[in-house]
Formats: sequence, C-alpha cells, structure tokens
Amino acid sequence: MIIDSAVLNGKCSCGREHNMSTKAAYISSGCLAEFENILSLYGISGKRCALYGENSYAATKGLHPCSEQNIVLPAENLHADEKSTARVLELMQDDIELLIAVGSGTIHDIARFCAHERKISFVSVPTAASVDGFCSTVAAMTWFGYKKTMPAVAPELVIADIDIIKNAPFELVKSGVGDIMAKYTALADWEIAHELSGEYLCSRIYDIMRSAADTAMASVDGLIAGDEKAYEDVTYALVMSGLAMQMMGNSRPASGCEHHISHMIEMCPAGLEVAFSALHGEKAGVGSVLGATEYHKLAGIDDIEPYALEYSPLSGQKLKSFFGEGLIDGVIKENEADSLAPVDRMKLVSSWPQIRSIISKIPKVDYFLAILEKLNAKRTLEDIGVNSAYINDVLDYSPIVRNRLTLMRVRRMIRH
Ligand SMILES: [Zn+2]
Ligand SMILES: [Zn+2]
Repeated sequence: MIIDSAVLNGKCSCGREHNMSTKAAYISSGCLAEFENILSLYGISGKRCALYGENSYAATKGLHPCSEQNIVLPAENLHADEKSTARVLELMQDDIELLIAVGSGTIHDIARFCAHERKISFVSVPTAASVDGFCSTVAAMTWFGYKKTMPAVAPELVIADIDIIKNAPFELVKSGVGDIMAKYTALADWEIAHELSGEYLCSRIYDIMRSAADTAMASVDGLIAGDEKAYEDVTYALVMSGLAMQMMGNSRPASGCEHHISHMIEMCPAGLEVAFSALHGEKAGVGSVLGATEYHKLAGIDDIEPYALEYSPLSGQKLKSFFGEGLIDGVIKENEADSLAPVDRMKLVSSWPQIRSIISKIPKVDYFLAILEKLNAKRTLEDIGVNSAYINDVLDYSPIVRNRLTLMRVRRMIRH
C-alpha cells in the first residue's frame, strides 16, 4: 500500500489545512528493490549516506540502497545518544545531501537528529515494525544520561519492505503492537479533552487512527503465522500514526495517558524503582492496559457529582520526593500553565455522561490482555521492571510528566 501526502494534505472537513512533510510511505513486500524508482518519482536526489546498525545491515543484505557512503554502527550498546550521533556526524562526509536510515527506531532517531544537524533530508527504511516514531519530527534521545526530545526532521519518504520487516526478531513486532494498542487510550484522551476544554479535534485523523488500530489488533494471529498482510497492517498503523502526528502538528492522535506512563518510567523518578528497561512499545502496551483498566473503572461511576472536586494546583512534599531533586524543577516548569486549570467542576459533572460514552469505545481490558497473552508479550508493570506495589504512584504521577489534558490528569479532580 502507499500512503500519499497528496491525498491527505490540504483543506480538511475539520476546517483546518493539514500539511504533513513526508511525501509518501510505501509499505509492501519487495518495495526496497524499487528504491531508485521511488526516489526519482519524488525527485529526491543528491549525494547519499546510508546509515545502518549491524543487524539491519545484515537483514537487508542484497538490497542495500545504492549510496556513496555507508555507515554501519556496531549493534552492541547502540543507543540514540550523544556518542552515536557524534560518531555519525564525524564519519559522514561533508558534502552528503541525503541520509538513508536503514533500521529500527534507534537508527531512525540517530539519522533524523543528524540530518537536522546537517540540514539535509532523510529517507526512512524501517526494518522492523517496532515503534511508531519512524515519521516523527522529533528525535527521542538519551543525552548525557537524560531522556530528551530533540529537534529533528521527518523523513521525505518511507520505504517499508514487508519481506524484511516480517523476518525481524518477533520481540520487535510485539513492541509495535503495544505501541498501536496505545492509540485507544490516546484517542479517548483526545476526545475527552475536546469535550472538556474544546481542544481542537480532527475527526478525519481520529477515524484514520482508530481504523488503523482496529485492523492491526485484528492481525495478531496473522503475525504469529508470519502472514505478510498482518505485518503490512501493523506497519501501516505505526507509520500512519507518525503521519497523523505530522498532520496535527503534535503527538495528540498517538499519545495519551499510556505514553505518559511509559515516559515517566523512562525518567526513573527517585520514588520509583525501575529494575530494568523495556522497549518503548512494551511500556506503551502495559501503559494502555493500566490506562484502560483505570478508565473503565472510572466509567463505572454513574453519578460523578459526589466525587467531583474543584481544581487545585499541584503541590506537596510528596510530589517533590517522588520525582526527586533531579527532576522536580523540570516537572514544575512543565506544569506551569496546567492544562487542567481551565476545567471547572461543573463542566466535569455535566460532561460526565459524554465522557463515559467515550470510555465505552475503549475495548475491554480482557481484549487487550488476550492479545498480549497470545503474543506472549509484556502485560504487567512487573514485566517492564516496575514493582506492582507502585501502581498508585504510577497512575497519580504519570500525567504530570507531560502537560496535556488527559482523563488521568482529570482524575485529580475525582475523589478516588
Ligand atoms: Zn482535519
Ligand atoms: Zn509510542
């Protein structure tokens, strides 16, 4: 299949004009062999450097895009950090005009950061359906030990060859499914914010994401069987979710309370013991299970009036000790213009029937768990390195790491 920006860009029925910068995404078996044709179709030329990890270099053997320079990064300790980016920027010849990222999420983050530094464009060749960030306009980096989102460029083109993607380690697609599962709580949060604060919502983007997620979730048996179509559907949902973010200009269609749970765990706050680090999509998948569980529980409240509280700003020693000296200032700054502040108690009460109906569109938790179980994927906090005794802290503090209106943030105004 081909996702064409010419179809998605321009005036939308929502009243806005969408402008995604990625020109097109090709998702099919054998499309990497068409690399030259696709690039010339879109008029993309210039001296090239292809960036690989050791594994993606081996996985694409015989299909390496023709390029003037190849950089292959060692697989061991490969992270999107200050070291790997410095290495690439040092090795890359000065007159390179196009960077080709061949690999999974880490290689893409390194490439999009370096392309931005050099002010050149890049083309994405994902080799696994592991994460929804291929088309992201920001790079998720670890910078001198700190997780940071850095300015970067989105790919001009995505060329996702399913023959390669379906042969990637199965752990990676399990993570990709978790990242797609995340869309259900993310979309619910978007709709709830729209209901409570009038935040802009594009129903076309909403519908595209919802149906991409539904199709991907229905493909789980196919993934296990190694079915090409199933891998195509999951890859489509991951690529589309990055493109939806481009169309919106922010990550709203793809990221809600479940991603905040994932981000918070990545930040390793002082009050949370994290035994080991899991893949991004694994954390997003567990975040979705926790988010959906809590949201369905809240929807069980028929009359919210006795539980609804007035807004009050974040405060307290507990918050400080949870995040610790290293993070608390950043957290406070992030919440300076608290997105919850404009939500008034009466509005919450009057919107409650609508909010319950939005929650009812999130599949039941058993459905999510059955999918993760089938894949033998991570499904509990323990599975991603966090003791389940921390569940209340995870639910209370995770919405604070990003100042975005979610039901998890609104939960501060619900006695629970
Ligand atoms: Zn729209
Ligand atoms: Zn994600």
